[in-house]
Amino acid sequence: MKMMLNIYCGCFAMRGMQDWEGDEMKKLYFGSNLKMYKTIRETAEYLGELAKRTKDIDRNEMELFIIPSYTSLAEAAKTVEPHLVKLGAQNMCWEEKGQFTGEISPLMLKELGIELVMVGHSERRHVFHESDEEENRKVRCVLEQGMKALLCIGETAKEKEYSTSAETLRTQLKVGLYKVSEKWIPDIRIAYEPVWSIGVNGTPASAGYAQRMHRMIKQTLIEVFGEAGGKIPVLYGGSVNLQNAEELIVQPDIDGLFVGRAAWDAEPFDRLIRRAMCAHRGRSC
Ligand code: PEP
Repeated sequence: MKMMLNIYCGCFAMRGMQDWEGDEMKKLYFGSNLKMYKTIRETAEYLGELAKRTKDIDRNEMELFIIPSYTSLAEAAKTVEPHLVKLGAQNMCWEEKGQFTGEISPLMLKELGIELVMVGHSERRHVFHESDEEENRKVRCVLEQGMKALLCIGETAKEKEYSTSAETLRTQLKVGLYKVSEKWIPDIRIAYEPVWSIGVNGTPASAGYAQRMHRMIKQTLIEVFGEAGGKIPVLYGGSVNLQNAEELIVQPDIDGLFVGRAAWDAEPFDRLIRRAMCAHRGRSC
């Protein structure tokens, strides 16, 4: 079964590696958004510990990124080597400078060596009422500034109830990626995070449901960019934990896991990553 899944995966997300039996393997992505948690010191300690615990894992096989608070970014950048843990920002303004009180410019992030910017997290969309058009301006700015964009999309419980999840996700993708040239494909990542699955009151999506949505997301990316769109990594997020990480990561169209609460201590996050990688490779660990 696993072998069939891996062969199937190759159609969408080939990253040019082979497993021990010579089959093509895709690179996996693991990341966490620290939201409005952890002080500067706590973030630095967490990152130091995470880098130490995971440094033996081949970064050609997986990419690890952490998205701390703005105030921790400078210290975080001094703490970890970028090839071990890539650092991201939780949000960004679409302008380089100007009268945008309270906003952070792409130039300010680049000054710190930040490589990735998250755009459109569910809390930005639903607590701060950001629109798809705003997310699109941000995505385009991130890419034009030479950073990678992690565009988060996800349907609400009501949209799922009305069976309009596909419409919502397709709109978020098509508007969010409007006028994004296909030359930026290597710099785009998508996080599928159903709003109803996120946070303390969230219920994790079943692996089957997540796979169906990921398949549809990949098809939409191919519609937007042509065949090459299928290479964009699509991560699942929303109540991922040590119990469900394996069944999610073995789904053919899930390229990685975007983890909240279960990643905020280095030791269990390291265990989750290893467990998921072993499951994906079909090894017992
Ligand atoms: C999130 O908020 O993006 C998230 C994935 O959180 P959690 O894993 O805690 O549900």
